[in-house]
Amino acid sequence: MRPLLLAAALSALAMPAIAAPPSDPLRTGAEAARDRALTDTTAYDFVESLTTDVGQRLAGTEASARARDWGIARLTALGFKNVHAEAFPVTAWQRGEEAAAVVSPHPQKLAILGLGGSVPTPPEGIEAEAVVFRTYDDLLAAPVGSLAGKIAIVTQPMVRTADGSGYGAANPIRRSGPSEAARRGAVAYLHRSLATGESRLPHTGALNYQADAPKIPAAALSVIDSELLEHMADRGQPIRIRLKLQSTATPSTAWTVTGEIPGSEHPEQVIIVGGHLDSWDPGTGAIDDGTGMAITVAAAHLAGAAHPPKRTIRVALFGAEEMDFSDDAFTAAHKPELANIVAVGESDSGSDRIWALALPAGAAKLGPMKTLATVLAPLSIYVSPEPSRFGGSDIGGLTMAGAPTIAFRQDASRYFDWHHSADDTLDKVDRVQLNQNVAAWAAFLYIAANTDVDLHPPAGTPSPARP
Ligand code: ZN
Ligand code: ZN
Repeated sequence: MRPLLLAAALSALAMPAIAAPPSDPLRTGAEAARDRALTDTTAYDFVESLTTDVGQRLAGTEASARARDWGIARLTALGFKNVHAEAFPVTAWQRGEEAAAVVSPHPQKLAILGLGGSVPTPPEGIEAEAVVFRTYDDLLAAPVGSLAGKIAIVTQPMVRTADGSGYGAANPIRRSGPSEAARRGAVAYLHRSLATGESRLPHTGALNYQADAPKIPAAALSVIDSELLEHMADRGQPIRIRLKLQSTATPSTAWTVTGEIPGSEHPEQVIIVGGHLDSWDPGTGAIDDGTGMAITVAAAHLAGAAHPPKRTIRVALFGAEEMDFSDDAFTAAHKPELANIVAVGESDSGSDRIWALALPAGAAKLGPMKTLATVLAPLSIYVSPEPSRFGGSDIGGLTMAGAPTIAFRQDASRYFDWHHSADDTLDKVDRVQLNQNVAAWAAFLYIAANTDVDLHPPAGTPSPARP
């Protein structure tokens, strides 16, 4: 029911009752961009075409090159200038045949997905006794050597939260769990998907092997199968599991596609926004991160639609977020223009509604940002009293280097039901909430690009931090 209520609330926005006083052209222009966004189809059309015409876009693969060409054509068709692809090296990881099953006490297939970056098992697979840990801390408490020859399984659930913090808290289970298990002697690692739904579809994601531990094969179990293994473990009988993962990893290339609406007065001053072009392979990458690109591209398009902005608005479709490659490449390529970067922002939390905007420390007190707060208020968005400290994986390097960073806070309550699974598909996109996002980004871009506002935090502000 919530989307319908929001639809009613947003449709009220188009009414003249909230028209701005004519005396403030900045506010009027931002409101016009906002209101156009609420009924515009650019964002939805973007993600509909991406998921239909390109599909999954695993970095460094043939699909990644098709996505590059699609991105260049799309931005060009929308009127962006200087459209081009920035190439950078990646390791193209691809899953091959994958299977897992309980062998004893009785045969039972398990729904799994190999983790991005996982080494393969031998061709015949691995069969071993399982050790089930209810929490990640229980695994960490296991002595070195205690898992020799075993398959370690962590079944700790991820917590559903509106701000997505449950995912961040659970992230080490997937990222670091494989090496922690290997350090204790395990020959393979399984963990409950970092997911909030009750589907039997598993959710993948990248792992990070640590240099001082053997690399062991690792996969995510569906939530349901993780719970099944807990019940089996409760019986006290030994559980034997067979796991087969036939992944490959080869040196390759990925591309970040960028395009601009050049500034009419200060073309060298640039606002950089975007989302990531790559996706995981089981779904079609609709909400991660087709919609993030769609939102920022549509917002840039609408913010510059009526007349050229004074400053340049650049959109970036980052080429390899999921496996952590595009941030370093983009930072290296764009650090030389750091002094001219007005702001950076990334949309990568799906397409459900925004409730807050976090600005760099001190920026909320600036006149143009006060105007922005007024324009965002009818969208049910407030400017957060908490300053932004991080805005997204692909802009992290620029944030750490001192680029003013903004972060729109989205409702991520449903996002992790589908994220990184075969359920990340177009039908999950709520068009009303998608356009609420576009409206908010368009209002920000309009104001940041048509004023001289300086969003740099004052000297002495605590440094930004990666979550
Ligand atoms: Zn993402
Ligand atoms: Zn992702």
